[in-house]
Amino acid sequence: MQIKRLRLSGFKSFVDPADLRIEPGLTGIVGPNGCGKSNLLEALRWTMGETSARSLRGAGMEDVIFAGTATRPAREFAEVSMLIEGADAEETEIVRRIERGAGSAYRIDGRDVRAKDVALLFADAATGAHSPALVSQGRISAVISAKPTERRAMLEEAAGIAGLHVRRKDAEQK
Ligand code: ATP
Ligand code: MG
Repeated sequence: MQIKRLRLSGFKSFVDPADLRIEPGLTGIVGPNGCGKSNLLEALRWTMGETSARSLRGAGMEDVIFAGTATRPAREFAEVSMLIEGADAEETEIVRRIERGAGSAYRIDGRDVRAKDVALLFADAATGAHSPALVSQGRISAVISAKPTERRAMLEEAAGIAGLHVRRKDAEQK
């Protein structure tokens, strides 16, 4: 699976719509302190279904919405669109949107879907919000100091069998 394009609007410091093309191969993000490098990686993880506000450096999930500055008012929603290309060369667009007081909603190719559908899509593509392919600040030391069970979960995600666990959990709840 390859991420081809990322579009952000109202997400953290990206108050104005931003449109990024991501070329094949290793992608590095460079820029001065505070310019939004980590926010970009968080936008990726958030769109893939990240549920932990703390791991997005916020107290609550609405903290991903542009909070305003001295010169610009806060926004009422944040939206991130991610275009991916699967092994079959098919393109899929995943959109996550959050509105103040209304929570998160997801769309896959324009259809409203559940968070679980997005989790399954990425689990089957052997990636996701906790994918080892997304190397954020502090991630390397986190891998080194992870408990064996946590490291196993990372390996399972990398091996592409995380989708089986999502489905088993789903089946057990029925
Ligand atoms: P460093 O090189 O220090 O790691 P960085 O490029 O990773 O910096 P980020 O952490 O991505 O920078 O961006 C930090 C900026 O994003 C800060 O200026 C912060 O105020 C801003 N920011 C974070 N959340 C929001 C929000 N909800 N609304 C507005 N601005 C935000
Ligand atoms: Mg950073």
